Amino acid sequence: MSAERIDGRAFAEGLRGRVAAAVPAFAQATGRNPGLAVVLVGEDPASQIYVRSKHKATLEAGMESFEHRLPDTTSQDELVALVEQLNADERVDGILVQLPLPKGVDDKAVIATIEPAKDVDGFHVVNAGKLAVGEDALVSCTPLGCLMLLKDRLSSLSGLEAVVVGRSNIVGKPMAQLLLRENCTVTIAHSRTSDLAAVVGRGDIVVAAVGQPELIKGAWLKPGAVVIDVGMNRLEGEGGKTRLLGDVEFATASEVASAITPVPGGVGPMTIAVLLRNTLVAASARAGLRPPEGL
Ligand code: NDP
Repeated sequence: MSAERIDGRAFAEGLRGRVAAAVPAFAQATGRNPGLAVVLVGEDPASQIYVRSKHKATLEAGMESFEHRLPDTTSQDELVALVEQLNADERVDGILVQLPLPKGVDDKAVIATIEPAKDVDGFHVVNAGKLAVGEDALVSCTPLGCLMLLKDRLSSLSGLEAVVVGRSNIVGKPMAQLLLRENCTVTIAHSRTSDLAAVVGRGDIVVAAVGQPELIKGAWLKPGAVVIDVGMNRLEGEGGKTRLLGDVEFATASEVASAITPVPGGVGPMTIAVLLRNTLVAASARAGLRPPEGL
């Protein structure tokens, strides 16, 4: 069997197009465009790239982009004060504080300051809690993007066995909650799981969010499984070039799975597209408008 490649890039492009198409109706109803504020502290090179891409994508979707770049000497109090200012700014519908934050700054305390209605990353405990109890919530972008890819591929997720490898608050746990909401039977595996291969082998759906290059082997998979690889592991290749590898051994997994996301070009492009979607959803809710359809 040779698995179908799930084209996250194409899906993300479509989603971004649908968001951009819905922005004019918001602007007409409210007299302004939705606004996303991104806060970057320090010089982390990967974060700089992410923030630049987010800024560009926000403008392309017809939204306002408010960028705040602060030196890595910024104190926690200064950062909290900025978030409070953004909470009060009516032009700002979404606030994203780029992680990781410099040493000495407690990211939990900063995220707790974000107004939950503007928490487009879905990291605030109010949104995590709402997701857990089945209420409408702003949901973390990467797992929501994974769910969109799964729903696009599978007509129904109900009753399927889903195995999520990884239990971070950013990916693994919200992913498991989303799959549970779709009536999957969900198993969460992590670094203390004994016999990971056997657990992975139960999954009709396998979502890998581990951060270990090619940890999950094709031979572990149930034949026909749908595999979503969140992993983004940068490895030094020949000639100093960096290679991006997923958490799943793509070559062997492609022989067993029915569909799989490649790395790059799978989950990665979904994150920013969902961030724009979440910003428009947050903006609509703040303005008392119904959420745009088809997002
Ligand atoms: P974390 O490091 O926060 O969590 C990793 C999880 O994997 C932990 O729960 C850990 O278990 C588990 N784990 C580690 N080693 C093993 C192992 N050998 N066997 C089983 N489980 C293991 O990572 P994130 O969730 O933030 O990210 C995971 C991956 O996804 C990374 O590669 C990251 O770069 C990528 N990522 C990609 C995004 C995108 O595409 N846009 C966005 C976010 C992340 P334990 O809890 O026991 O320590």
